[in-house]
Amino acid sequence: MKLIMLGAPGAGKGTQAEILSERLSIPTISTGNIIREALKSGTEMGVRAKSYMEQGKLVPDEVVIGIIRERLAKDDCKNGFILDGFPRTIPQAEALDNMGIAIDFVIDLEVSDETIVQRMSGRRVCEACGASYHLLFKKSAVEGVCDKCSGTLVQRKDDHPDTVKERLKVYHEQTEPLKAYYEKQGKLVVVQGQNDVEDTTRLTLASIGA
Ligand code: AMP
Repeated sequence: MKLIMLGAPGAGKGTQAEILSERLSIPTISTGNIIREALKSGTEMGVRAKSYMEQGKLVPDEVVIGIIRERLAKDDCKNGFILDGFPRTIPQAEALDNMGIAIDFVIDLEVSDETIVQRMSGRRVCEACGASYHLLFKKSAVEGVCDKCSGTLVQRKDDHPDTVKERLKVYHEQTEPLKAYYEKQGKLVVVQGQNDVEDTTRLTLASIGA
């Protein structure tokens, strides 16, 4: 199955993608995680992406399109994949269509801006593997330590309140139009992501018949 997770930053795309990934045995591809990795290892792409990311802005289309093209060509994507955080603009969606990739469903997680601001302030991510947690809603077994790889949990720089506001603005202007784009293609399924993780997971699985 080939899936896209759509929704505002902090809507819970990453969490749902991780759950679906295990359930369907297909990889999750997060452009955000790939860029953060590149940033950590100081590659040319990482250096180029740094200032955009830290200001809550989108990295230029050609950079992320290149990342996705390379990643989707790998063997583990043959039986399907979940895209988390891509596409985020109409040109990115068009590029994906032009790669000849037939997406089955686009899962749009609907969450209010108010809830998002509250969620982002408590979000923590694993420095080592990128898994995400929340201080109130999705605690790790040991505070500050990743359940999966024992890495250290940190707050992302771009999860600070001012950057979150900018990211929401960018989402409404540039990413939200993708809903109409995929609705026209008959691929959009809307899932209420306002409640707890279990509830959202139930609705997500039902929406794709899994
Ligand atoms: P995320 O972890 O998905 O919230 O992504 C974090 C940041 O990485 C975003 O705020 C952007 O700066 C950058 N980024 C991730 N995916 C994309 C994308 N598809 N297009 C442009 N920028 C992206």
